[in-house]
Amino acid sequence: MTVLGGISGSVQQITAAFEKTCLEVEGLHKAIDQVQEAATEVVLKKACADVPKVVYALRLNGDKLLWAGNLPKYGSILRDSLARSLGGDVGDLGWQQATCGSSEGGLGLRTAEEVSLPAFIASRVAAAPAVRSIFGRLEQAGLAPCGVLEASYEARTRSAINALASSFGLDSAEGSAVDAVVEEGTRAAQEWWQQTEAGGPRAVQENAQVGGQSIADGEGDDAERSIRPGPAGIQKKLSALVDSAKASRLAAAFDENDDMVEDSLRLEDLRNKHQEHSWMWDLNPSFGPVLPQEDWLRAVRLRLGCPQLSGDIICAACDERILDRTAYHALCCAKGQSTRGHNRVRDVMHAGFVASDAGAATEVPGLMPSQPDLRPADVLTTAALPNVTTAVDVGITAPHAAGAGDDCVETMRQNKLAKYGPYLEELRIQGIQYAPATFTAYGRRHPCVTQMITQASREAARRKGLRSHAAMQLRWCKAIAVEIWRRAAHMIRACLPAESRQTAYMLDGEYGDAEKAEPEAEFEPEVGKEMWF
Ligand SMILES: [Zn+2]
Repeated sequence: MTVLGGISGSVQQITAAFEKTCLEVEGLHKAIDQVQEAATEVVLKKACADVPKVVYALRLNGDKLLWAGNLPKYGSILRDSLARSLGGDVGDLGWQQATCGSSEGGLGLRTAEEVSLPAFIASRVAAAPAVRSIFGRLEQAGLAPCGVLEASYEARTRSAINALASSFGLDSAEGSAVDAVVEEGTRAAQEWWQQTEAGGPRAVQENAQVGGQSIADGEGDDAERSIRPGPAGIQKKLSALVDSAKASRLAAAFDENDDMVEDSLRLEDLRNKHQEHSWMWDLNPSFGPVLPQEDWLRAVRLRLGCPQLSGDIICAACDERILDRTAYHALCCAKGQSTRGHNRVRDVMHAGFVASDAGAATEVPGLMPSQPDLRPADVLTTAALPNVTTAVDVGITAPHAAGAGDDCVETMRQNKLAKYGPYLEELRIQGIQYAPATFTAYGRRHPCVTQMITQASREAARRKGLRSHAAMQLRWCKAIAVEIWRRAAHMIRACLPAESRQTAYMLDGEYGDAEKAEPEAEFEPEVGKEMWF
């Protein structure tokens, strides 16, 4: 039976309806494949055809569907669909990562198993005050024995809360966090219901707000805000707890395997709070810098630790080391692209500083008369630190680079400070403070960089009369992230073999110059072998 768009009935009826929805979603994903643009496809699949499509069914019957074992089919539809968009399967561990929220290193493609209990619990908690009121009226009318309906409702909710902790192996602290979210949600629901019953204008306004924002808020990755009335906020917080537990389990799996050191460092880096992930989703070039499709695809595959190659090859950039399938080597090679990427990040930093210091300059010569060849300032500005001119020295390093230490951005910072140690006094006399600004090859900022950006954004907001510095700070961090991931993608491409004339011809009809396009024409025949061409 369908009630208010949801299925009510036996487990068989509920699962049959869910399977029908799965088929519809599969068809929608295949239709999105026709877009033929990886980034747009993944964003559409996440936004329109992801679990929100079935979240209503999960809110009503998530516990029954989970225990009936029908949900994995939905996950396999999502995984196949992601593989089609990203040009190949992402592997089991890559998929586990992809199902986490972006702040945990994933793509936010949560499976139905992972959403079922948070969705169901959120719905039960948010609806509880209204349900209790209905039960009360039924009892008053003599249609139900006193307290039985409410006890049954509470028992099913409590059973789902317990199952959430056991299904995801939550430890006692994570279990307590779940209880705290449920308590906060219960309080918010109770307050909202009292206001609604009172019927004041505030209640009407909030009611509209809950309806208008439920889907968008429910599936976003930002779980920081306090809970609004309605199931979306509660579900978001519970999903964030599940994400965190899943990502920690994935990190532990990497740590247990000696061959996965780079994977472990990559995930740890992506989960750090000094990261910005919106470059993956904000694709309108009118509203900010966007990676072209080829770079976006390489960057997202790198982020998930997916193979970039069908097998290991000799690196084309250094012609010496092995370029592994995941292309981690590329982040420590490809010097030309590494420098170009560094310069683009320097330019983004400069552009931000200029907003409050029009005189900010790049690559200023002659700051150290004793060593005129040294240029410690990628950017020289008064905007980076309070009340001092700063020589900002940008550096980007990979967490798996040789000598990177426990924290590669801090190691690089210390190395830079040691390198310029003998000249710091010379700078100080001129009223200049030397300050490294170090990033990882995955975009993590050293906390000092976040501090500089915050300081300069605040100053710019104050001078330009912006209401808040937060939006500028966010856009600045996003622009840096775009350039760092562009750098990574270009470094990988530089380590791959050059495309042959034949490949270039087939791709775009350019046959090119034989001498330039075929470097192998320069090869020398082996001594003693007869050559016949
Ligand atoms: Zn190399």
